[in-house]
Amino acid sequence: MRYLVLTDIHANLEALETCLVDATGRGFAETLVLGDLVGYGADPNAVVERIQSLHPTAIVRGNHDKVACGLEQAEGFNAVAKSAAKWTLDVLKPAYRQWLAALPEGPIDVDDTVEICHGSPFDEDAYIFDELDAVRALKVSNRPLCLFGHTHYPVTFELSNDAFDTVGSTAAAQTQVQMTPGGKYLINPGSVGQPRDGDPRAAYAIVDTNARRVELYRIRYAVEEAQTKVINAGLPDVLAQRLAVGR
Ligand code: ZN
Repeated sequence: MRYLVLTDIHANLEALETCLVDATGRGFAETLVLGDLVGYGADPNAVVERIQSLHPTAIVRGNHDKVACGLEQAEGFNAVAKSAAKWTLDVLKPAYRQWLAALPEGPIDVDDTVEICHGSPFDEDAYIFDELDAVRALKVSNRPLCLFGHTHYPVTFELSNDAFDTVGSTAAAQTQVQMTPGGKYLINPGSVGQPRDGDPRAAYAIVDTNARRVELYRIRYAVEEAQTKVINAGLPDVLAQRLAVGR
């Protein structure tokens, strides 16, 4: 099976469409979505519609989805995230708000190889940044490959032959992780719509379970278009500015 993996889209339609065109060229059969479809960006309705049209095999909710649909209060959010969540709640079509509110909590076992979650397999809202968190997640995960999002940082943690390895983001447009038998992998493909690793390119992954390979992609998209929409929507300017620098 070839799965397209999308996470942290954050209502950035330009980034999403560009990833979909690129991924279609490379070939995929099914789609996995790791949450945070909305929040920050100017196109929450169009992004929900586009994701629905892909009929994801598995999808989990993110923390921004929960707040933007009114399921949770924006208590842990900073001022910018809070105002974007309020804006999103106001503009979301009621049917999409309900659809977001009904998204399941992770983790979800997709098949014998893959498990997905938003933040971590032990807590959907926890952030996996360092190796300590990663080891805890790898222990909890019950599949060889656990895919996560939430931090907007592409990273691969690998536990194999008693060795622990961490590979962060690189400048390459394409990198691959070859899974070895008996190894456990915890991988964040990086954010589609709001990268924070200093690289403004959209990030996504394709998992090929037959080849036991994870393909990680970075791709340029029309950042200026997304920025113009953010500003015209009356969202905080900083949300437009950060797209250009990937922070
Ligand atoms: Zn996010």
